[in-house]
Amino acid sequence: MAEKLKVGFIGLGIMGGSMAANIADKGFALNVYNRTKSRLEPFIKKGIMVSDSPEGVARNSDITIIMVTDAPDVEDVLFGKEGWIHGAKEGKIVVDMGTNSPKYAEEFAGRLSSSGVEFLDAPVTGGDVGAKQGTLTIMVGGKPDVFNSAKPVFEAMGKTIIYAGPSGYGQKMKLVNQIAIGLETVAMVEAMELAKAAGLDIDQVYRLLSTGGARSFTIESYMPRLMKGDIEPGFKAAHLRKDLKYAEELAASLGVPLIGGSLALQLFTALTNTGMGEKGVHALLKLYDGLTKLNEKH
Ligand code: NAP
Repeated sequence: MAEKLKVGFIGLGIMGGSMAANIADKGFALNVYNRTKSRLEPFIKKGIMVSDSPEGVARNSDITIIMVTDAPDVEDVLFGKEGWIHGAKEGKIVVDMGTNSPKYAEEFAGRLSSSGVEFLDAPVTGGDVGAKQGTLTIMVGGKPDVFNSAKPVFEAMGKTIIYAGPSGYGQKMKLVNQIAIGLETVAMVEAMELAKAAGLDIDQVYRLLSTGGARSFTIESYMPRLMKGDIEPGFKAAHLRKDLKYAEELAASLGVPLIGGSLALQLFTALTNTGMGEKGVHALLKLYDGLTKLNEKH
């Protein structure tokens, strides 16, 4: 049997923490790095190897997963002081699994290939629950042979692994997904706001929305949290705003009108501007609550 790849993991946030834990549980040798040291503690307790820089992770792994916030953060991790590239050797693979723009994926792939390093863009969907349960859907852009080498690692984190095409196509697919996620979140919140104002029993409304024709992952995942008054992330509102901004840029470059997507972008920009960017996407209900109250005064 082929020897298992040594895996490095950078960025142990809401998603990365669970994804890295699943990789270790599936028997891969793992070494991890996180900028904020407290997030390393559960890994240290399990005896997992810790590196003190992205450069150290590169030295200790065949393939490295990066799961940080946005493109400038990926750039920092890859090329900054003590960045991953400084510990990388020819033939190593690095995979960006966060969400950003296809143009950055193409740029990173190009810059890394001049050092003989392979790059995949492999964003995910399925939320914090999918990350914990190892049931993510993963969309991958890059060379097919590199995808095949990395596939066993993807299978440790996800259930549905999609080869999307060359560099940038994983991110393109993810941005398509985020239009649907953004608008589903708006739909859920708007339906809930009307249900509350109309004096409906919210438990029964949830029964309706989670079993009827309108059901969605967004409703099943986030409406129960809203019903408990829990607006912690899950999936941060500022991150969805970032994704919708990138989707809008992609659509503009292709001349595609993104009417609903633009509406969702404006709503999540407004929510972020109220200081709720670090709350979950479902906190959009608070924005609607404010607007409904404003309406009552007039
Ligand atoms: P998160 O909980 O905020 O974690 C972000 C991680 O990135 C943290 O480990 C953070 O380190 C690290 N980081 C950020 N900037 C960095 C930098 N410049 N240098 C080094 N490390 C840096 O976010 P998340 O929810 O895990 O999301 C991560 C990515 O996955 C985002 O692109 C998001 O859009 C995408 N995503 C999220 C979900 C979801 O449901 N949450 C689903 C699919 C995709 P510190 O601990 O030091 O802050």
